[in-house]
Amino acid sequence: MTPLPTLLSLLSGLVTATSVSADTSRPPTYTPRRLADGVYAVLGDTGRGSEGRSNAGFIVTTDGVVVVDALASPREGEALLKTIRRVTTQPVRWLVLTHHHPDHTFGAVVFRRAGAKVIAHPDTRTLASEGGPDALVADWVRVVGLDAMRGFEFADTPDRPVTGRDTLRLGGRTIVLDHPGAAHTAGDLIVWLPKERVLFAGDLLIEDGVTMVVDGSARALRRSLDLLDSLGARIVVPGHGAIPADAAALVARTRAYITGLEDDMRSAVERGVPMEGALAALPPPEENRPASLNSRRRRNAARVYVEEEHAYMGLEDSLP
Ligand SMILES: [Zn+2]
Repeated sequence: MTPLPTLLSLLSGLVTATSVSADTSRPPTYTPRRLADGVYAVLGDTGRGSEGRSNAGFIVTTDGVVVVDALASPREGEALLKTIRRVTTQPVRWLVLTHHHPDHTFGAVVFRRAGAKVIAHPDTRTLASEGGPDALVADWVRVVGLDAMRGFEFADTPDRPVTGRDTLRLGGRTIVLDHPGAAHTAGDLIVWLPKERVLFAGDLLIEDGVTMVVDGSARALRRSLDLLDSLGARIVVPGHGAIPADAAALVARTRAYITGLEDDMRSAVERGVPMEGALAALPPPEENRPASLNSRRRRNAARVYVEEEHAYMGLEDSLP
């Protein structure tokens, strides 16, 4: 068995040695990227691609603003709110959370204080929260720094819980919220603008296609990708990294990765190869970089091996 990873290593966002000791005195600044009339993406940090800080977005309507994800700390949330204020004076009505990983939700308190209500899936469980909320916050303080976490309180309990499909109509806009299944986490939501054909995919999609399934499952991810394909998005905003030139190509790349991994792990299970053997061909995970490409590939492989083992034994329903 692989040793139980530390809580810190389970956090899915940017976790690096440098970020732990990062200078937190200078608040981040963001440049909103206009995707359609009144629809913006805010890219957290494109410099590190899929390992970089999380992305967010916002939709301006004539009856207020809908924000998609809150970034990783109150300080980042404040910077996001300032970015929105440079575009519009409309009040922020809603904050939609694409899932409950801290790098997407720990800025939520800023929007709550600004009067926003939260739309999210009610299942907030992730591996990162298993040590309890205090341990989670303590770990995240080490990641982003005490200053960035000043004033933190959990603010991701939904006012409007979504467990299936829900449509928000605000100021003449139609915003579809959908829970495609427990693919990246149990609380995944996508945000879809059918008229503008813009999709905020959360961490179902990240820049390099190697989406983490350690809090979800490969099978649910495949089904979610089918849903994303069926939408026919013109622009997709991934949870981390750059907006792809070709939305469908990123979905295809993600599917190719996860189905390839499932095939490899299924074959290993069927041949009686133990997990260590099945993982032997992969590069080792990187110390202090749990979201690096190598670390993601290895952690996913361990998770998918267990899924395939359970399927082989007919125990699929017993998966955690
Ligand atoms: Zn995530």
